[in-house]
Amino acid sequence: MQLTDPESYRARIQRIMISEEELKAAIAKAGAEIDAEYAGKPLLLVSILKGAFVFLADLSRAVSIPCEIGFMQAQSYFEGTTSSGKVSITLDLTQDISQYHVIIVEDIIDTGRTLSLVAEELRRRNPLSLRILTLLDKPERRVVDLKADKSLFTIPDAFVIGYGLDCAEYYRNLPYIAEYAEN
Ligand code: 5GP
Repeated sequence: MQLTDPESYRARIQRIMISEEELKAAIAKAGAEIDAEYAGKPLLLVSILKGAFVFLADLSRAVSIPCEIGFMQAQSYFEGTTSSGKVSITLDLTQDISQYHVIIVEDIIDTGRTLSLVAEELRRRNPLSLRILTLLDKPERRVVDLKADKSLFTIPDAFVIGYGLDCAEYYRNLPYIAEYAEN
């Protein structure tokens, strides 16, 4: 896709779904909750690249207790629309997570397929605890039995961009979440 033309780039941002102010307020609250729950515990925030990088950057700065940051990237393979699949970890954590309380910081849960495989893999490594925190949740689209421990915004079944989320690698740097329209 060629979106270097500013006019067509802008035209595809259909409407702002979640504003910068709303994101900021929800993330400040989530950070304070993490402070209260994990104080005094070894905490590792794990983000799955690339979509969650902006959320992790802001969430980690809303947390004031000591914590470590880790990144993973995963490629998943499924047959058609089935829920069973395989995941290959293309970028892995450097920490031994058996020493940490782990929070997976995710951008969006859609079908839930990839995240359920990544969570399964992390559980096998015996973390002290494992929770999933997602910025956005599209529950209507779920094909596996996966529930986030906390989701900041539940959204309808629309394709969204911005705040880390892309369309063909564009729009990740929008400071808000918007609905995408191919017009
Ligand atoms: P799942 O395995 O839950 O179907 O896929 C989740 C991944 O698909 C997300 O981490 C994200 O990269 C991508 N995804 C799902 N829904 C959307 C969406 O509405 N917009 C964008 N940009 N990516 C999405």
